[in-house]
Amino acid sequence: MGRLKYQRVPVTPFRQNCMVVSADSGRAVVIDPGGDVGDIVSTLGGMHVEAILLTHGHLDHAGGADELKEALTARQGEAVPILGPDIRDAFLLGTICDQAAAFGLQGMRNVEPDKYLEAGNRLTFLGETFEVRHVPGHTPGHIVFVNTAEGCAFVGDTLFRQTVGRTDFAYGDAEGLVKAIRTELFSLPDEMIIYCGHGMPTTIGEERKHNPFFPAEAPQ
Ligand SMILES: [Zn+2]
Repeated sequence: MGRLKYQRVPVTPFRQNCMVVSADSGRAVVIDPGGDVGDIVSTLGGMHVEAILLTHGHLDHAGGADELKEALTARQGEAVPILGPDIRDAFLLGTICDQAAAFGLQGMRNVEPDKYLEAGNRLTFLGETFEVRHVPGHTPGHIVFVNTAEGCAFVGDTLFRQTVGRTDFAYGDAEGLVKAIRTELFSLPDEMIIYCGHGMPTTIGEERKHNPFFPAEAPQ
């Protein structure tokens, strides 16, 4: 436990937490590069990136993925794959430019992942296993990445410190989100660290006790 290093890089005007996860070997993976690709590249320094992982198709999480892939592929001399989210978010990845225009944001690109992921996939990067779980509701194809050995999970916009992700989109599902968090996240150990798409990290135990969306989970 604790073999890897975790750096949060807040990107876009939404201050989304792009995560750079790295090992002593000088290898890294990047999760949810929504934009500000220059900041991500400078955080990476000379590290070799094994993959770009996406939790869901919103612009602040995925809008910089294509540009980052292009920059890293040129530097590393081999294609760096974009993996995820679940294919049910394809409609979002294909409309990032439109989403960005609606917010007046420049430089974001639509994304065509090298591979969509699905629940039960087990990815091996940096000598570690990242298990894919499907946690829909914020978006239909939202996935999370769980690294049991390191005791942490990357949950995008599903569970936050004392709240949950927005569901006020045409495709949002508030009940579905709460249900999926209960089954897919609250089945994880209390001490598991949760890296959220916005704000500070938390733990499963803290949210089980204090998150107002889950009153039944609190000690009676
Ligand atoms: Zn989102």
